[in-house]
Amino acid sequence: MKSREIQLKQRPAGMPTPADFAIAETDVPDPAENQVLVHNVCMSVDPYMRGRMVDRKSYVPPFQIGEALTGGAIGRVVSSNSDDFVEGDFVQSNYGWREAFVANAQELTNLGELKATPSAYLGAIGMPGMTAYVGLLEVGALKDGETVFVSGAAGAVGSIVGQIAKLHDCRVIGSAGSAEKVAWLTGELGFDYAFNYHDGSILQHLRTGAPDGLDVYFDNVGGDHLEAAIFHMRQFGRLPLCGAISQYNATEPAPGPVNLTMAIGLGLTLRGFIVSHFNQLAGKFRSDMESWIADGKVSYRETVLEGIERAPEAFIGLFTGTNTGKMIVSLQG
Ligand code: NDP
Repeated sequence: MKSREIQLKQRPAGMPTPADFAIAETDVPDPAENQVLVHNVCMSVDPYMRGRMVDRKSYVPPFQIGEALTGGAIGRVVSSNSDDFVEGDFVQSNYGWREAFVANAQELTNLGELKATPSAYLGAIGMPGMTAYVGLLEVGALKDGETVFVSGAAGAVGSIVGQIAKLHDCRVIGSAGSAEKVAWLTGELGFDYAFNYHDGSILQHLRTGAPDGLDVYFDNVGGDHLEAAIFHMRQFGRLPLCGAISQYNATEPAPGPVNLTMAIGLGLTLRGFIVSHFNQLAGKFRSDMESWIADGKVSYRETVLEGIERAPEAFIGLFTGTNTGKMIVSLQG
């Protein structure tokens, strides 16, 4: 079987561009003993992949130039030499950025019966949804009725953070990069206040949306958002540090918040986390989120680009905000 894959052609300098990627055709071998042949249905592009394009030590190893990128994908089994998979099974893998592949059975997770579309298992019911769930409830130690601010609120993680907080009767404030995204947050998603961070002072928006201050700030953005949130935290507030997308393409070290010493007097907890630190909660997360979606308590959007050749464009779009909800590359064809 033939497959096309996206390779890293060169390491991006600053904002990634299409010239940093190459597309190549490969021959996928027949599966050997204990191996499975899979055709991907959809793949994920995620902000963390930008860090893997830099040649440095991190919690995941860097991508190599001239090799296919990897990342989350949902596929269907074409043929199997493993007792754990049969043709037609939906499987989750880290073999994204390609149309088809052969993998050892241990590298695949059999998703069993799907309660939503396959792509939802890359978004609301997948890694970003679980990031929101553990980040807010475990790291943020959310209590009912608190006031929560989430940045990147119209994205895959942020849109779920806000809705979980609403399920806990919280007052929810969100920031996003366009009027359309803000309208989605305060409309369908039920945020109490949302603002376009390109429009006015973040701190002033926080004072308007949360006059009594913030108990939890879920940070997806870093930089000016984090600094403004620290200024507006209540005593013993918690700040789950999930991401800092405003700094991922920085070519110089970014300055830290000028007001970090406020954390001392207010007794704030700033705690970074990676979703995989909470893998033990994956089963509970999946059943909670599947039932919230089935009951209409959580909704999600996806921005879908068709075809493997559009994967670089989808990835770059994460940094210019072309996605509302989860950015997905569909590989049905
Ligand atoms: P999103 O779906 O939120 O997509 C990225 C969004 O970030 C864009 O749509 C854009 O929206 C916004 N953005 C881009 N550049 C900037 C900027 N300079 N300032 C403010 N906003 C910006 O991605 P995810 O939901 O997948 O990820 C959100 C965050 O969570 C990221 O920081 C990511 O690294 C982090 N993350 C962390 C995990 C963990 O385990 N700790 C796991 C998964 C994600 P807009 O139009 O609003 O600007």
